[in-house]
Amino acid sequence: MNELVIRTPDDWHLHFRDGDFLAETVPATARCFRRAIVMPNLTPPVTTADLAVAYRQRILAASPEGSHFEPLMTLYLTDKTTTADIRAARRAGVVAAKLYPAGATTNSSAAVSSLDSLEPVFEALAENAMLLLVHGEVTDGDIDIFDREKVFIDRHLEGIVDRHPGLKVVFEHITTKDAVDFVMDGPITLAATVTPQHLLLNRNDLFVGGIRPHNYCLPVLKRSTHQQALRQAVASGSPKFFLGTDSAPHAKHKKEASCGCAGCYSAWSAIELYAQVFEELGVLDKLEAFASEHGPNFYGLPLNQGTITLAKRPWQIPEVIKMSDGDTIVPFFAGQTVGWQLQG
Ligand SMILES: [Zn+2]
Repeated sequence: MNELVIRTPDDWHLHFRDGDFLAETVPATARCFRRAIVMPNLTPPVTTADLAVAYRQRILAASPEGSHFEPLMTLYLTDKTTTADIRAARRAGVVAAKLYPAGATTNSSAAVSSLDSLEPVFEALAENAMLLLVHGEVTDGDIDIFDREKVFIDRHLEGIVDRHPGLKVVFEHITTKDAVDFVMDGPITLAATVTPQHLLLNRNDLFVGGIRPHNYCLPVLKRSTHQQALRQAVASGSPKFFLGTDSAPHAKHKKEASCGCAGCYSAWSAIELYAQVFEELGVLDKLEAFASEHGPNFYGLPLNQGTITLAKRPWQIPEVIKMSDGDTIVPFFAGQTVGWQLQG
């Protein structure tokens, strides 16, 4: 097979950042994806309907001429989020709320420290047909970083899913076999996104001949048995797993630092990297459903009508991307060769 035509995909988990980043990140995603679930972890975070509407406008202003790209906005939950905030967000077109345990990832210090106080908010999300998106890691310093996802499932996520049968929950960027099993065995209201880096890499890739800051993301890469479980999950064709890149740029000097930031910037090669994984697994026929159908079906949104074409043509991901302000970003898989290339 030398050409692959699939329904236009969407990215169900993405970080555009803000300010100067938008001129870089929005076109990178719009080149391929028709819609994207936009993460709200800005500084300050997107905690209200008004902030979400203003952020949406900034994203649309950065979209390429003639693009039909549609950002799907999310609300950042804090200890102070109210049910009125949820209703207002719904009226403003916000589709989901994002739960970050405090300190879990970039710009999450304002996030939730006590999940119990959010029970009425979870109810309000279900009543307003909005989804709950979860960064599923505990952040206690005494829990090993490789165990934080599993402990989050046991301590929190199982309870949330049990107590709110009417609430659709997306377990974001899953990284472990524990998460795969939990989602597979869970109700139909529970699904998960899977990133390219967690399908392509395992924790050895953080330390190949030295520390590899550009493979560092949160949740951190896990051992290969977990990577294999994720690959089997997407190869199964289960509608509970769909595309979410978690593409998350940082300037090069912030990754290559004594305390480097977490995040892989995959937007320029995301669909190609997923295609590579599905080809390796011998399930290229399942790429379209994973990239373009399971997500909208779970969110209750229409499928895209257009198509994209991928050609079997090896190309090299650039070593570095220059931003308009002079900073640079090292993209995910920089300098490596990918077998598929988006056409047009
Ligand atoms: Zn993320």
